[in-house]
Amino acid sequence: MKTIYMDNNATTQVDPAVFEEMKPFFTELYGNPSSMHRFGGQVGVKLKEARESVAALLGCDVDEIIFTSCGSESDNTAIRSALNAQPNKRHIITTRVEHPAILSLCKFLEKKEGYAVTYLGTDEHGRLDLDEYRQAFRDDTAIVSVMWANNETGNIYPVEEMAKIAKEHGVFFHTDAVQAVGKIPVDLKSSAIDMLSLSGHKLHAPKGVGALYVRKRLPFRPFLIGGHQERSRRAGTENTTGIIALGKACQLALENMEAENTIVKNLRDKLEKGLLETIPDSILNGDKDNRLPNTSNISFGYVEGEAILLMMDQVGICASSGSACTSGSLEPSHVLRAMGVPFTFAHGSIRFSLSRFNTEEEIDFVLETMPKLIENLRKLSPFSAEKELPTQN
Ligand SMILES: *Cc1c(COP(=O)(O)O)cnc(C)c1O
Repeated sequence: MKTIYMDNNATTQVDPAVFEEMKPFFTELYGNPSSMHRFGGQVGVKLKEARESVAALLGCDVDEIIFTSCGSESDNTAIRSALNAQPNKRHIITTRVEHPAILSLCKFLEKKEGYAVTYLGTDEHGRLDLDEYRQAFRDDTAIVSVMWANNETGNIYPVEEMAKIAKEHGVFFHTDAVQAVGKIPVDLKSSAIDMLSLSGHKLHAPKGVGALYVRKRLPFRPFLIGGHQERSRRAGTENTTGIIALGKACQLALENMEAENTIVKNLRDKLEKGLLETIPDSILNGDKDNRLPNTSNISFGYVEGEAILLMMDQVGICASSGSACTSGSLEPSHVLRAMGVPFTFAHGSIRFSLSRFNTEEEIDFVLETMPKLIENLRKLSPFSAEKELPTQN
């Protein structure tokens, strides 16, 4: 059975060209870039190139990039740095729809370290309210952290505008751009964003590498302390293969940006339109007109998302319900709860997230398979009894 992979917001396939690029650095070229000899030095040259490629995709300077181990580390480093650099400021502004890498950290800081956190809410389409945002600032606000694009709905947030507002208040602005980088244009030169997180495995590089952009002259406190790597901003011998892979993936992302927003978007739109038209009681979750080109989050009313995923898995289709990090619990996703999606719909939400490796044939197969699959599940669903109730009275 062929696997149809539509879970690219959870992780992506390593692009074959990325894999080729990193291979020699596992085998012949295993030197340490900090070594004095040429053998290590030639690896250093490749790291420099990778840093240039990441900076080119983000529109920033090479000195503003710190390589990390993942998106979560970048997020934690950014928030901790802002707090440690401004010890008298004890307040954080974020949103209810962040990834756990931000949300769990903020909950921890609140419970264990006595920080105050404002969690901005959303409307039913997952959109933020900028007036609520403006009113959230306090004299002791240290940092605002708002994701550029949401991993579950694909919603794009007005982070450039929000960063300007933070700047007016003299508050640092961080964005978790893990889902945005590589999918939509990012240009940090022309923005007031102070820090930005990205992760390799969400843009066709391997797992275990990420980066944090820190604007020049922004006060910064390292998270990992030790050697002088990353100009003493992140200790630890560089993940040379991962960083080289991330550089290549960023180059390819720049080349594929146009296709992502035309070819991938058209496939997504075809899939979404087909599912909503052929499956009764299905609704789209998110901001239809302001989303990532690859993501579609659809609720199939009166069925369990986990049950849908199991049935999809049996025919080789990979997607997710809620986000991979929170599934396993039967709580509906915190993002859909923040949006106020009704219970019977929130439970049946499926996220389809595509990439440039998906094909039209795959979309057609999913469109042929899903209506029957949902119909069968609804016959068995405990919710279907609930659904009948109002009509019986
Ligand atoms: C995946 C993801 C992360 C975490 O990245 P890792 O590299 O897996 O730690 C953070 N934020 C968002 C929005 C994500 O989608």
